[in-house]
Amino acid sequence: MRDFSNSKRAFAEADKYMPGGVNSPVRAFKNVGGDPLFIAKGKGAYIEDIDHNKYIDYVLSWGPLILGHADDKVVADLQDATTRGTSYGAPTELETELAEKIQAIVPSLEEMRMVSSGTEATMSAIRLARGVTKRDKIVKFIGNYHGHSDSLLVDAGSGMATFDINTSPGVPNALAYDTLTVAYNDVEGVKSLFKEHGKEIACVIVEPIAGNMGVIPGTQEFLQTLRDETTKSGSLLIFDEVMSGFRAAYHGAQSLYHIKPDLTTLGKVVGGGLPVGVFGGRRDLMENITPAGKIYHAGTLSGNPLAMTGGLSTLNQLSEDLYTKMTANTKRLMAGIKQAADDHGVPMTVHSVGTMWSYFFNAGPVNNFDDVKASDTAYFAKFFKQLLQQGIYTAPSQFETNFMSSKHTDVEIDKTIQAFNNAFDAVQKQG
Ligand SMILES: *Cc1c(COP(=O)(O)O)cnc(C)c1O
Repeated sequence: MRDFSNSKRAFAEADKYMPGGVNSPVRAFKNVGGDPLFIAKGKGAYIEDIDHNKYIDYVLSWGPLILGHADDKVVADLQDATTRGTSYGAPTELETELAEKIQAIVPSLEEMRMVSSGTEATMSAIRLARGVTKRDKIVKFIGNYHGHSDSLLVDAGSGMATFDINTSPGVPNALAYDTLTVAYNDVEGVKSLFKEHGKEIACVIVEPIAGNMGVIPGTQEFLQTLRDETTKSGSLLIFDEVMSGFRAAYHGAQSLYHIKPDLTTLGKVVGGGLPVGVFGGRRDLMENITPAGKIYHAGTLSGNPLAMTGGLSTLNQLSEDLYTKMTANTKRLMAGIKQAADDHGVPMTVHSVGTMWSYFFNAGPVNNFDDVKASDTAYFAKFFKQLLQQGIYTAPSQFETNFMSSKHTDVEIDKTIQAFNNAFDAVQKQG
């Protein structure tokens, strides 16, 4: 058995100063029962906790670290950048360089604004949509997560799903009232909503490949319906690609479906482990943002030079070839995990798109939040603990996604498949 005593002590200490002992809820391991691991360092595909236990890491900071931990080039570029100062609050060429790079990869971002988190990106995109359409209502999908701003904390995925909360106390009723929700992949539900409310809807915001209730790809018909209905009713379509961007595919989910949203939000990988979010899209829309237009947006650390460097250094190392390789690795891992479940007679559904993957203790099919909720979360909790014992660090919730990095090779994948087999054996032994 691995010894977690230093992490246990560190958590008790943290709990004196921070609610639940953490700065973001799912980190707390609360719904898998147990204390979170405190991390000392990471390199490549591996992390090490403060008790010197080593793990193959598939959380990767919840997505950003597509090049794994402490990539040599990213670290060197950051070290170099810090010698010139950490922030100026004035323009730098780095911002233009990153914007140019992003646009080359995701061309629908004709103009964009850098922010410091995915939450800021989606919040600002919603404000822009409401401002230009002069409408208040927005549509989101049950189990999709778009950060923690008021209008978007309704029927949300991620921590909200993990802790079974519909909306948060503190969200004004008026805002929740203007957020209309529909089941994910529900084409008829979308059509009837637009029939009734079409002319009041400012925008639809959607994760084209949902990643905050595990990985659930949107169907082509579903996403095309969103494109058609928003166009017909004069509302905007926002693809929230904070997770799927540079993850589902090099050019994002939008390239897989050949659907062009009006606005896109990015985060996670775009900062390469530093705090960056982006919202952008049609030039005619973006030109409404201050100071070009009147819809307000600002940020003291927006476009921060260190954050821009983290993003640039990461994106500059990505390529189509790298995604082909990572996607193949992810598929091989999925096949191995599914085989392990089958061999142990455990019902399981595995989903992956590009470098995003998840496993549900559920015979499937898993197409929406109700399906995910039918998964065996008690089994998940037991299994998760065994994986930790086996040296595999995955997301501590059935409602979260795991990731692949460029540093995970055949060696790590084979070890992981073996670890899943061992974990099934161990759970079965417990009875
Ligand atoms: C993570 C995430 C966000 C929120 O980003 P933060 O940087 O955590 O604020 C928004 N949308 C999606 C799809 C996400 O996965």
